[in-house]
Amino acid sequence: MKYHISQIIDLSQLQILMESLYRASGINHALIDNDSNVLTAVGWQDICTKFHRVNPLTCSRCLESDLYILKHLHEGPYVGYRCPQGLVDYATPVFIEGEHVANIFTGQMLHEPPDEEFFRNQARQFGFNEEDYLNALKKVHVIPGERIGDIMAFQVQLAQMLGTSGLNRMRNIEVEEELRAFNRALEQKVEQRTVELANAKERAESANRAKSVFLANMSHELRTPLNAILGFCALMERDNCITFNLKEDLSVISRSGGHLLGLINDILDMSKVEAGHIHIEKHSFDLIDAISGIEQMIRLRAEGKDLQFIVEKTSGLPRYIKTDERKLRQILINLLTNAVKYTEKGGVVLRIMQEHDKQDKSIRESDIYERDIHEHDKQDSDVKNVSSTRLIFDIEDTGIGIAPDDRERIFEPFVQLSSMKRVIEGTGLGLAISRQFVHLMGGSISVNSEPGKGSTFRFDIPVEFSHMTDVTVLQNPRRVIKIFPGEPVYRIVVVEDIEFNRILLVRLLSSVGFEVRDAANGEDAINLAKTWKPHFIWMDVKMPVMDGIEATLRIRSFDPTVTIIALTANVFDEDREKVLSAGCNDFIRKPFRESDIFSMMERHLGVKFLYEKTEDESLVAKDEREILSRDAISDLPFTTVNRLRKAVAEVDIETVSAVINEIRRDNAALAGLLTEFVDNYEYFKIIELLENGTRE
Ligand code: ADP
Repeated sequence: MKYHISQIIDLSQLQILMESLYRASGINHALIDNDSNVLTAVGWQDICTKFHRVNPLTCSRCLESDLYILKHLHEGPYVGYRCPQGLVDYATPVFIEGEHVANIFTGQMLHEPPDEEFFRNQARQFGFNEEDYLNALKKVHVIPGERIGDIMAFQVQLAQMLGTSGLNRMRNIEVEEELRAFNRALEQKVEQRTVELANAKERAESANRAKSVFLANMSHELRTPLNAILGFCALMERDNCITFNLKEDLSVISRSGGHLLGLINDILDMSKVEAGHIHIEKHSFDLIDAISGIEQMIRLRAEGKDLQFIVEKTSGLPRYIKTDERKLRQILINLLTNAVKYTEKGGVVLRIMQEHDKQDKSIRESDIYERDIHEHDKQDSDVKNVSSTRLIFDIEDTGIGIAPDDRERIFEPFVQLSSMKRVIEGTGLGLAISRQFVHLMGGSISVNSEPGKGSTFRFDIPVEFSHMTDVTVLQNPRRVIKIFPGEPVYRIVVVEDIEFNRILLVRLLSSVGFEVRDAANGEDAINLAKTWKPHFIWMDVKMPVMDGIEATLRIRSFDPTVTIIALTANVFDEDREKVLSAGCNDFIRKPFRESDIFSMMERHLGVKFLYEKTEDESLVAKDEREILSRDAISDLPFTTVNRLRKAVAEVDIETVSAVINEIRRDNAALAGLLTEFVDNYEYFKIIELLENGTRE
């Protein structure tokens, strides 16, 4: 037996039951296991416990009777035995699942009134105190032999009941144990899985960290030389001495560099989104303005391929909205550029709707759009929310289309369809980034297409309504010509290990009138800061010998006032914390624009600059000059005017130059304007000027 009887029979219940039986009938009971342990006992007689079982001789007789009973238990439902001491005992075996586990005893009784003489003799024979012994005898119940059948029938039933309930209990225990074992196994499994998951998470995180570090380094490596390329181009484009042809060449380098930067940025954007480094930056802006900016850009490309480009805005579209303008722009530019790229005939339509316009304006209502899996819950189009709405953008083209199997795939990074006959410029990241951005902004994107006929990309995003007063205009930066006359002379240190970048920044700053010295590492920077006492330090972060962080910390220990701005090619924000806590006043990411450099100096140094006139301003100025020049022309000798007109008409550049040089002697301003026209091949303007001037 796997279990002890005390585990499978409720002994305390049995004890209570037996006690009440004893009180009612005087019939005693005991449950004794096979190892002679008494489990329950009621009405046990002193004559046995205090006399017969105590004296070694009588006790050995008791054991004899025990043995007899045990030996014959299996013969019937119960067994009875009259012991040599004159008392009668009965026992019934208890079986559980066929196994004999215990016995129920009753007895220590007499079937007829005791023969006092017999017992008195017994007392004498075994040396019991006679009086005590006879008193104990008096307590022994006399139960007539004919009642025994009924009593034993009860006892047999009780034994069967104990057997059945014991079996049930045993089954329960087994089930409970199985359950417990199962639970333990489950807990172990959960524990093991948790450990495995934690390990996997740790591995994934460290892989991600490694990726981030790799990206940060890679971006540094790529952006740093690119910074030099773009920067020197810009610097050379400032130079008035270079020829028109060189300017053209420079702009090609500049454009290609810009394209390369765009690709690097795409890859970085994608990785940053995946690493959770990109966040939504909402601000209020003029939607109509933003769209028309994009429209102009796309129109140029579309017209270049003889494609129509139509922008449809449904009436009632909110003008001032608040959302992440840059991301919205990037999504639209990506989708529209693709539409133009993958269309050879026909055109492209950009349609902008508000959520409640959707039903009426949807181009192909019957089409089932293949919604992407991240589809977001939509507001009920009938419920108007006063503070926000959803905008829907459709970008429809009549291009090559996309096969049904590819419609989900194209949103994966680096997927470019192989069916494309010719290689088309791109990274295969545009749609992946667009989808990530749409999701970040709380929207969804889908595509519907018919191969050979065209595609329609649709995305929707939630936007908040805004007001004109909240709109901040992203102005095109104006070019700095020089430091405003009368400003103090500022000493600037440029700390940068990469020579190209260092020279670039030194030249840029010197060209507008700063006094500039440079250092190639942190140590040299500290020396310069000590001996030359600069007002302002541009501090590269990553450098050999001593990096920018360490150098800043040291400089701060003896000069708390000098402005230090960090230059970093790192793409992640962690760098920001590092440089600021080291004591830098601010930081700029490479590659930077000229305007970033100057506006940072304006902000932190308080320096004032003289700016080049904006396009509008210089247009006005040019017009003014033209009007003034007309007067000047009428002052010119008639022959000079005639020679110039003739030379221009014949495109005789040499004579044109000679005549302009003659004019320069008397009127340098007029000669300057004419030279400008010649340089820009604006001969018709010279003709116009001569006509107007002489007519007056
Ligand atoms: P890519 O830089 O190659 O344009 P995208 O992620 O923007 O990368 O697009 C992925 C691929 O999806 C493209 O290479 C092209 O095969 C397909 N695709 C995107 N837009 C269109 C479109 N309007 N018409 C047909 N195919 C498209």
